[in-house]
Parts: sequence; structure tokens; C-alpha cells
Amino acid sequence: SLTAPLAELRADFPLLDQNVNGHPLVYLDSAATAQRPQVVLDAELEYLEKRNAAVHRGAHTLAAEATEEFEGAREAVARFVGARADEIAWQSNATDALNTVALAIGVASRGRGGEAARRFAVRPGDEIVVTEAEHHANLIPWQELAAQTGAVLRYIPVDDNGLWTIDDARAVVTEKTRVLAFAHVSNVTGMVAPVPELVELAASVGALTVLDACQSAPHRPLDLNALGVDFAAFSAHKMLGPTGLGVLYGKRELLNALPPARTGGSMITTVTMERAEFLPAPQRFEAGTQPVSQAIALGAAVGYLADAGVPAVLEHEHALAARLYEGLSEIPGLRLIGPAAGEERAGLVAFDVAGVHAHDAGQFLDARGIAVRVGHHCAQPLHRRLGLTASVRASVYLYNTADDVDAFLEAAAGIRPYFGL
Ligand code: PMP
Repeated sequence: SLTAPLAELRADFPLLDQNVNGHPLVYLDSAATAQRPQVVLDAELEYLEKRNAAVHRGAHTLAAEATEEFEGAREAVARFVGARADEIAWQSNATDALNTVALAIGVASRGRGGEAARRFAVRPGDEIVVTEAEHHANLIPWQELAAQTGAVLRYIPVDDNGLWTIDDARAVVTEKTRVLAFAHVSNVTGMVAPVPELVELAASVGALTVLDACQSAPHRPLDLNALGVDFAAFSAHKMLGPTGLGVLYGKRELLNALPPARTGGSMITTVTMERAEFLPAPQRFEAGTQPVSQAIALGAAVGYLADAGVPAVLEHEHALAARLYEGLSEIPGLRLIGPAAGEERAGLVAFDVAGVHAHDAGQFLDARGIAVRVGHHCAQPLHRRLGLTASVRASVYLYNTADDVDAFLEAAAGIRPYFGL
């Protein structure tokens, strides 16, 4: 159960209190983007109204206050995910953060970045391993890196439900593997990856681990230092924060050795007309003017989540996911993707409706005030493997209630009959 009574907590989210198409809004699309509580909206506005200034520059009072608040947000986010502040670099979203790592490895592979960067170099014939369930954000940057370096992109295949195991990973990872990149929680199946085992597997062959934490950081306790992954990425907008901001985590020593692919102002120490020296992490990955008010809003968001209690959020979502899964299982003609009943599933269920295109199902639900995601959810290879072009996905967050799930289930039961099936 949540620490604050649920009804009280829901009232913190102004957007949720509205009618859509004549029905009370049932927002079941938080895996795509989450809504923001008033304290997060207020934190950003208050900063803009009272302290907005260029950070890390200038000697005036506002600039000093802005810098302090900006760096305070970094510390809050670091604490929230079990990291040190200098292991957290601001990026424009999780996609950007994953690109930063892949691009940096590309830079190192071209012999740039000095002695420290050599450990990252990928050579022809080396292997980069991902899973068949990845979001495009954790697939295409690796395809590009492979194409640029002559490395081979291999993948851990999924089964007919979109799932894979540590044994499947062991069958793919070899002595040639240099990078093992995977989602902590799949945004389509809701499967939770066996992170400690994967970190051990990667370490046994000297490969780097890159964790896509987009669907875990907002929803479950995360201790990145304890997990031991080398890099991780997540987006602010999925964790009650703003768009335009992502987070790159890297182990301090690795982040300081990684060469930046984006260069310019604010990330240097000494610049001549011929060359430049770069600041240590995280500034070396923060070229140019940063998303300051967004970082401050994310600081407020993680404060809100910590106050709600992340273990309680997870428990709440597990209960709602079970209710979703059981209810959908009882509706004829639906094919549910992902873990079976009784297996761990994050707070989302994606499914196919026999004979009805996902977009038609989505429109049917929208007409009843129910917001879900339809499409391939940026995971085309996974959908292709499952024999689907699209699916419908309902996802929950701390502000959803059993009533939301029940309203959705009642409407979902009407989809096929509506289309004469
Ligand atoms: N990975 C996963 C698992 C996701 O769910 C998402 C967002 N759908 C992303 C990466 C990309 O996040 P963003 O679009 O915020 O960069």
C-alpha cells in the first residue's frame, strides 16, 4: 500500500482530473510518458520565476543560486538511483544517453581519446550483444556502432511470449563480446532482466554492460552502484519529470575515461586553436547550455517518488498488473504478450486483439476516455518475432487505481463485440 492514501496522492496530479470524450480520463499510458504532480510543476515554475540564470558561469547571485539548485538536483537524482553525483550526466533523453555511450565507443574505436579511451575500442570481428526485445533506442545506436567499426551485432533471441533467460544470454555472449546492452524492464513484455547474472556474465568476458533503465528507474528501487552495471540510461518524463531531459549513469572511472562525442562550450579546461582538453565527468558529457529548469523539476520528481516510497510504488503496480493480466486473460480473443500469471511482470500488459487492428482498438478505448498506447512501441523486431505488426499496451503508475483497471477491462471486453467479432 502507498504511504499516502491513494485518493489523496491522485489529487496531486492536476491532469488526471478531467473528462476526455465525455468520460472521466483513465490514463494507462505512463510507460510512454508519466504525468507530473503539482510539486514538480511548481518547482520548475518557481525556478523560472525567481532564479533562472546561466549555471556554472558568471559571478552574480542568481547564477550562483541557479548553479547550486542545478547541482542539488543532480545529487538528488544520484541518491535516488544509488550513484554518486559525478556519475550522473544530463542528456536530452534516454535515447540521447544511449547514443552518447555508443558514439563515445565509436570515438575510442577511431583512436581518439588518448590512452584512457583505448579500453573502449571496438575492432572488426568484436561483438556487441543486445536482446531481440530492445526498444529501438537501445538497438539502432549499436547497429550504427557495429557498421562503423566492423564489429558484429548479435542478439539474445526471445521465445513466443517475447521472453528470454540468462541461459539464452550465455549462449550468445562470447570472449569476443565487448558490449552487452539490455533493458532492465521491457516496455512491451514487462519482463524484468536478471541484471546481477548478466553483469557477472559480461564481467567474465570483459564486456561493458549498458542498462536501459527507462522502465525501471521510475517504478522500482534502483541501486546502480550495487547492481554493478557500467552504464545506464533513463528519461525524466517517465518518472514524473519533464521532457527534454535524460540521464546517463556511468561508473566514475569509466565515465572519466570515455571520450566525448559532442564537444563545445562548458565541457573543456584549456582550448587552443589546435586542440582542447576536456573536463572530467559529468561535465565532459554536457556540452553547451543545459536543461536547467528540467533538471530542477526532476530533482523534485525524485523527491516526490522517494516520499511516496518506491518499494510501495512497486508493490502497488504489481497488484494492478496482476489485476490487469487476470482481467484481460478472461476476455475471449486476446493474446497477452510477456510473462505468464504468477511470474514477475512490471506494471504493464501488451496484447493483440484477434481480428482488430491495435489502432482501431485504441480509438475504441479513447472514445471511452481510456488512454493506452498502440503500435509497435519502438520495438519492431520484437513484434515481428511475435508475428505482430502492432499491439495495445496498458501501463500503470502510482496514481492509477483498481477502478482505472476495472474501467479499462470493462471497455476492453467490448472491443471485439463492437467490431462484430
Ligand atoms: N527504452 C525503453 C525501454 C523505453 O520504454 C523508452 C521510451 N519508450 C526508451 C528507451 C526511450 O526513451 P526516450 O524516448 O525518452 O529517449
